[in-house]
Amino acid sequence: MEKLIIHGGLSITQEKDSSDFEKNKVLRLIASESFDILVKKNAKKSVLHAIMMMEDNPIFNAGTGSKLQSDGEIRMSAALMDGNKNIFSGVVNIKNIKNPIAMAEILSKEENSVLSGDQANEFCKKHDIPDHSPFTIYRLNEFKKSCSGKHGTVGAVAIDRRGFVIAGTSTGGVGCEIPGRVSDSPTVAGTYASKKSGVSCTGIGEQITRQAVAAKIVTRVDDGMKLNNAVDKTIFEANKFNYSFGLISLDSEGNIEIGKTASISELYYAFCDGEVIRSFMV
Ligand code: ASP
Repeated sequence: MEKLIIHGGLSITQEKDSSDFEKNKVLRLIASESFDILVKKNAKKSVLHAIMMMEDNPIFNAGTGSKLQSDGEIRMSAALMDGNKNIFSGVVNIKNIKNPIAMAEILSKEENSVLSGDQANEFCKKHDIPDHSPFTIYRLNEFKKSCSGKHGTVGAVAIDRRGFVIAGTSTGGVGCEIPGRVSDSPTVAGTYASKKSGVSCTGIGEQITRQAVAAKIVTRVDDGMKLNNAVDKTIFEANKFNYSFGLISLDSEGNIEIGKTASISELYYAFCDGEVIRSFMV
């Protein structure tokens, strides 16, 4: 049976504002629309649709509405993992395009499936991908004020009726990072899937990378561990370092699991298992 889970990032602070509730509402709508695509088409199309919708909505930190790096430029990253074909593809620090996740999908057909920086943009030009400014006044003000603000990386994991698992993640980074800093999202630490499970992470990229979070959970499940135990063990290990991240995951038996370390106050997610759409801040 088809399942889909999506996330819209996390919050480290306890403060809630109207954007949190808006995010929840939007996630619900996107989960519902993308679930339809999952049923009518497949897991890859559903994950791409969900992530593109979130990239196009400026309340999320991905695509339009991405955060600014410390030089005032926006550089975006995204990855897609096809668990059935064992293909990982992505873009790192790409500029001025609308949908980084769509580029990750194009690259999944190339031998060199992860591209970065100016060369990633040159590749877009060769494929006639039009320029698009992801800039928003809201992110500029956030950048000028404090370099902080809410996170809002996006991700999706789906399994279709053939049992194919796809995971994807897209981000504008943490904001105010050293130009060119590489996030976890376009690496196997932030986005990973196999025939048995898939994971998408959000949070402090360096910490997610140090623990190889997504790849580790998927490997544990491949080796026979139950998804809930694999997630719990990974979160337990991260809490020992006081790390800050969250994740969404599902497995080929149809289990859905959420994980977040102790320091995270909210993880925004929604899922659909065919009967109901649920959206949460946990
Ligand atoms: N993981 C992303 C990064 O480190 C940020 C986030 O998920 O909020 O770039």
